[in-house]
Amino acid sequence: EAKIKGGNTYSIFNHEMAMRYEKQYLLRAKIQRGIENKEFAVHFQPVVSAVDHEIIGFEALARWPQADGSYIPPGDFIPVAEQTGQIIALSELVLENALESLAKLQKISPHLTMAVNLSAQLFDRGNSVDSIISALHHFQVSPSTLHVELTESVLSKDHAYLSKKLNELRALGIKVSLDDFGTGFSSLGLLHQLPVDIIKIDRSFIKDISASSESRKIAESVIHLAKSLNKELIVEGVETLAQAEFAVIHKCDAIQGFYFHRPMPLADILPLVNS
Ligand code: C2E
Ligand code: MG
Ligand code: MG
Ligand code: MG
Repeated sequence: EAKIKGGNTYSIFNHEMAMRYEKQYLLRAKIQRGIENKEFAVHFQPVVSAVDHEIIGFEALARWPQADGSYIPPGDFIPVAEQTGQIIALSELVLENALESLAKLQKISPHLTMAVNLSAQLFDRGNSVDSIISALHHFQVSPSTLHVELTESVLSKDHAYLSKKLNELRALGIKVSLDDFGTGFSSLGLLHQLPVDIIKIDRSFIKDISASSESRKIAESVIHLAKSLNKELIVEGVETLAQAEFAVIHKCDAIQGFYFHRPMPLADILPLVNS
């Protein structure tokens, strides 16, 4: 009896693994075609000042439109692209699109900034810093208006090599952002020595501030921690007026979220920018 049960469990487990493997294998091939056929697009989400709610910059977010009008979410294809190394080609595509778009936006308002999400993998290659510099030159964008975002899970490991590369970028004036801050607590003790200029507080921290005072206290201490380290502070995922006010009261520098603006194609953000 037990033996048969065990046998079944084993075969179901195998079947699920095979399914997952096949799905990932198919997605990998589809991503490859997507890169070759230039199917990927970039949308831009405005970041607003906490002081006057004016747009101060944008975050570039990869989008993969499908023939039927739907989008495959980045949460589905980014992890596969990270595993297969396709993230490198994808990042180059996003970076170039983002800088080309920023150049157009800066013709209207010269101080606008652009944040690009980069994979730590990108820095394993020797020439990553050079290719970022040459893209900046090519699109005539000042390094000080480019923000490079890396997730906390990556920076929480003590990577001497990655830190060195990030400090090379910072020496050029490029700003480094710690994305999804608060989701990987391992870095708390190391925080002061991380090579970052900006901390983006993850949206999970402000999600429940209206409903729960515990949640509010945690969000407050995360904000105070970041501020005590003299980092620029961006609150992400602001969906309500109460959350926006919370960010303002606690003297965050900037706010990003659906309450103000959703990610949009360049054509839709150009009219939002004031000279
Ligand atoms: P992220 O870098 O933390 O980007 C913010 C995500 O939060 C975006 O999701 C954005 O659409 C979403 N968001 C912004 N405001 C709100 C809000 O008020 N409420 C809610 N519920 N969500 C909000 P998206 O575009 O689906 O991207 C998900 C993640 O995929 C990004 O998280 C980033 O880690 C990754 N990603 C996206 N584009 C790229 C890329 O070009 N390269 C790399 N390496 N990763 C990327
Ligand atoms: Mg980001
Ligand atoms: Mg984030
Ligand atoms: Mg996130």
